[in-house]
Amino acid sequence: MDKIPVKNLDKLPKTAGVYFFYAKKDLIYIGKAINIKDRVKNHFHQPSYRDNLFIDKVTKIDFIETNSEIEALVLEANLIKKHLPKFNVVWRDDKNYFYVAIDHNQNGIPYVFITHQIHKSKTLHIKSSAIGPFVEGNAIKKVLKFLRKVFPFYTSKNHPKQKCTWCHLDLCPGPNPDIKDYKNNLKKLSLILQGKRKSVLSSLKKEMHNLSKEKNFEEAGKIRDKIFALERVMEHTKVISNEITHAKWLKTQEELREILDFDSKISRIECYDISNIHGKNATGSMIVFEDGNPVKSQYKKFRIKMKNEPNDIAMLKEVLQRRFSHEDWTLPEVILIDGGIAQLNIAINTINKPKNVRVISIAKGKQELFIEGKKNQIPLKELRQDVYNLVKHLDDEAHRFAVTYHKSLRKKSLGLNN
Ligand SMILES: [Zn+2]
Repeated sequence: MDKIPVKNLDKLPKTAGVYFFYAKKDLIYIGKAINIKDRVKNHFHQPSYRDNLFIDKVTKIDFIETNSEIEALVLEANLIKKHLPKFNVVWRDDKNYFYVAIDHNQNGIPYVFITHQIHKSKTLHIKSSAIGPFVEGNAIKKVLKFLRKVFPFYTSKNHPKQKCTWCHLDLCPGPNPDIKDYKNNLKKLSLILQGKRKSVLSSLKKEMHNLSKEKNFEEAGKIRDKIFALERVMEHTKVISNEITHAKWLKTQEELREILDFDSKISRIECYDISNIHGKNATGSMIVFEDGNPVKSQYKKFRIKMKNEPNDIAMLKEVLQRRFSHEDWTLPEVILIDGGIAQLNIAINTINKPKNVRVISIAKGKQELFIEGKKNQIPLKELRQDVYNLVKHLDDEAHRFAVTYHKSLRKKSLGLNN
C-alpha cells in the first residue's frame, strides 16, 4: 500500500499497530498505538515538546496493523532497533529507553531484568543479551509480568533455598528448577520479545504433539495450558494503556457516587493493605488514586508498631489512625480496605477520621463489597463494569505495592540491600 500523505490522516486505521513518519523518503520516527488514527492525529493536533522537533517535517505516514498493543510494543522496539530513525534516536542517550536483559549468575543460571544501561553492561563485560529498546517502561514491565505467568523466571541473581514470594504466585521457577526446561522457557520469552511469537507458538505445538505421541499426557497438558495462556496474553488488547481518561473518569465517578449515595465530587481514593507474612515485619500500605489513576508518588508505608500479638483488625486501626493524624496529607473522599464487616466498622470508627470520608471494604473470600451506611453488601459481580474495574485495579495495586515493600523489608532484615 502507498504511504498516506499528511493531509489524508482520516485514511489511517483505528486499529492497534505501529506507524512510521517519513520526511520525503527518510524514515524519521516510529511510534505505536492502540488506535493508530487517533494517536497520529494527536501528534499533529496536540504536539508535545518532542513532537515539535519534527512534526512539520513529516510528509507521509505508513503503518503496520497488529492484533494487539503488546504486539505493537514489541514490533515498535524491533523496528526502532533496525532503522534507528533520527527522532527516536535523539532521545536514546537520555536513558529514555528500556531494555530487557538476560544475564547469568556464577552457576550459569539466567535471570531477567529491565535496564537503561545497555552500554554499561557491555563495558563491564557482563554476559547479557539485551532486547529493546522499549519506549515505555511501564508498558514493558506489564508485558513482562504477563509473560512471567506463562514462562516463570528469576529476577535476581540468586534464589533463596526456600520458596520466595514470587514462587507462591507461580511467577518464579522455584529453588530447584529443571535448568534445561528453564533455559528453554527463557529462550521462548526472548523470542517473543523479538517479535517471533508465531515461531514460539508453533514450536510449543510441536512439543505438545510429540509428548502426546509418547503418551506423556500430563506434560502435554502443561504445554497446552502454556499455549492458551500465551495466546491470551498476546491478544490482550488493553494491558498497556489502562490509564483512565477524564471522560472515562466522569462516567466511573457517576456510577460510584450512585452506589455510595455520595453527593460530592470524588477524586481521591485511598486503598489500604495490611500484610503480615510470617508474622514478622507487619506493614500497612496505602496507595492513592486520583481521578481513577494511581499516583505513586503519594503511596505510603507504615511499619506496624504494636508490640502485642498482631491481628489484622488492630493493625488496620493503627494504620488508619496514623494516616488521619497527618493533617498535611490531602484527604480522600473514599477509602477502600481489605476485609468484611468487622474491618469496615473499625475503619468507620477510626477516632480521627473526618465524617465525610466514606469507607468501603472488599471481602475477597466472598467477593463482596461492604459500603458504609448500607445495610447490605453487594456481590462484586453485580457492580457496574467501570466500578468493578476500578475496585479491582485499586485492590491489585495495593497488593502489588504491599508485596514489593514486604520483600524489601525482609531483605533489609536479612542484611541485604534492595
Ligand atoms: Zn522463587
